[in-house]
Amino acid sequence: MPRPRAPSARLAPHAESRYGGRDFEETETMLIERIWAGNAYRNFHYLIACPESGEALAVDPLEWQLCLDAARARGWEIKQILNTHEHPDHTGGNAGLVAATGAKVLAHAGAADRIGGVDRGLAKGDVIRVGNVELECLDTPGHTMAHICLLGHSDEPALFCGDTLFNAGAGNCHGGGHPEALYETFATQLARLPDSTRIFPGHEYMARNLEFTLDREPGNADAKKLLESVENVPPESAFVTTLGEEKRINTFFRLQNPDIIARLREAFPEVGEHPDAKTVFLKLRELRNSW
Ligand SMILES: [Zn+2]
Ligand SMILES: [Zn+2]
Repeated sequence: MPRPRAPSARLAPHAESRYGGRDFEETETMLIERIWAGNAYRNFHYLIACPESGEALAVDPLEWQLCLDAARARGWEIKQILNTHEHPDHTGGNAGLVAATGAKVLAHAGAADRIGGVDRGLAKGDVIRVGNVELECLDTPGHTMAHICLLGHSDEPALFCGDTLFNAGAGNCHGGGHPEALYETFATQLARLPDSTRIFPGHEYMARNLEFTLDREPGNADAKKLLESVENVPPESAFVTTLGEEKRINTFFRLQNPDIIARLREAFPEVGEHPDAKTVFLKLRELRNSW
């Protein structure tokens, strides 16, 4: 007997504007609970659960007790932990959660030694099973060189993107990453996912990133409107964007936009009139580092 459906994930009470109309009831295939850490790093943790078995996977559960409490409140059992990458603000909760649940730890095979205690090293194309839910591992270097994004396939796909892609922004490359690899990840993997893909990043940085978008592209009406609406939204209720929305508000997906290029040339005249997408990405990443 399938158990009764858990209540819907506590996700955004969406703005009534053009972001409205969707709610984030669980899909047929996957339950998602987003957990706001309430810490200085502004972490988001996620539980992904199977509606039939109640089995759950915790993504980057730094504040692991919050994750455990949320799982128990839903009647879910955390059996796996996924670290998107090796930074301590993503792995620091592993030990506590493993001690409390016996969960297995999964991470990129290339980060396993640095994380320690990893039970399963992951590579591109690997499938993670959470009860009847299947998640695909994307190998997404750039923020670090051993970073996994998890993709849940459904009518509304879900991307758990760690510190690779943020709402309206991109991860930095200071902690062992490389901007050229990050560009390749954006261009050849993330940008090619369906526009309906819901974006679940590792941190809540939306307002600050929208300000950067508007600094680079002051005429971006979508970014302006969204910034006005997010300024009054507490982080635990932050909007969930889709990839299609990101392509309108995230500078790092708007690399051939004439206004962005014109403004970029004020800082870097050497890029010329028709810089390629990679050059624009690298220069934007460089500007964002000191912005
Ligand atoms: Zn990181
Ligand atoms: Zn992080």
